[in-house]
Amino acid sequence: MIIRRKTRKIRLGSIYVGGDADISIQSMCNTRTEDIQSTVNQIKGLMTAGCDIVRVAANTEEAAEAIRDIKSELLGVPLVADIHFDYRLAIKSIKSGADGIRINPGNIGSNNRVMEILNVASDYNVPIRIGINSGSLPESSDRSQSIVDRMLSVAKSYIDLFLSAKFENIKVSLKSSNVMETIEVYERFSEIYDFPLHLGITEAGTALSGAIKSSIGIGVLLYKGIGDTIRVSLSSDPVEEVEVAKKILKYLGIRKGGVDVISCPTCGRTNGDVIGVAYELEKRVRNIKRDIKVAVMGCEVNGPGEARMADIGVAFGKYDALLFRNGKVLRKISKDEVLDVLLEEIEKM
Ligand code: SF4
Repeated sequence: MIIRRKTRKIRLGSIYVGGDADISIQSMCNTRTEDIQSTVNQIKGLMTAGCDIVRVAANTEEAAEAIRDIKSELLGVPLVADIHFDYRLAIKSIKSGADGIRINPGNIGSNNRVMEILNVASDYNVPIRIGINSGSLPESSDRSQSIVDRMLSVAKSYIDLFLSAKFENIKVSLKSSNVMETIEVYERFSEIYDFPLHLGITEAGTALSGAIKSSIGIGVLLYKGIGDTIRVSLSSDPVEEVEVAKKILKYLGIRKGGVDVISCPTCGRTNGDVIGVAYELEKRVRNIKRDIKVAVMGCEVNGPGEARMADIGVAFGKYDALLFRNGKVLRKISKDEVLDVLLEEIEKM
């Protein structure tokens, strides 16, 4: 059983992060934020997929200003503005209605500029994520130390700066593209601080590699009770990030809901198109919220056993396929209709 470490609870627009709040899923738009319609459309797609918090780049004045229109079209969606280098964009984003901002205090230019951001964030009651990435540690950090030690001491210096301004509305991320470094730095950080943590493996790579790295890194940390919000970073459609994140939470037993497609790996005994059916099925049932287990099995060896344990399942036979529901054989169906029949049965449920 996972026992979550206790963290402070912060409010991010319409949701909470940390404390006893559910672990939330984040993603980031890859549209130009100034392109309001494309950004709104992408955010809608992300929310339909199950994303809880969306981040957008606020890299120009127009982008920071566009947050106002995006928010007015998408009432209630927690929106985070991602800022680098220019403190004025952080201030403008907050004034445009961003529910939270993410900054790397090390690239904002000076402590005074960070303080100006904190003043406005404080006035608008907007939380700030202190985003630390192993690849962008300040030049001044001690290079004789390990990456993890450097990340921790940089985190401490930023937190001290925020606390000196009595600003505690903080969330922290400490991302590395190295899975083991990421696990270690979050573990060590959470032994010292109780600020809510945003988990992720940065620059994790393409859909497959990134999903694996994120599942290991985020999965291990969540299993240890660390983490309040997660982002799976993929060089892919952001909706894929949400799909992977949902599966991480589901398979750790943290979040219920969604169709779980169980399918056999296929072998020389396989009697039907298990791979084709499983992939297509998974694609078509993505947005179903109900907890349903569907089995697609290739033969009579393990097939009926697995299919029986699922809510709905098929086992391909030599000439046709057997359809199961709740452990009982419903009927024989032709191999060609397996996908359609499974979709119909899921629809009925
Ligand atoms: Fe092979 Fe049958 Fe097992 Fe699938 S269920 S891998 S077809 S033995």
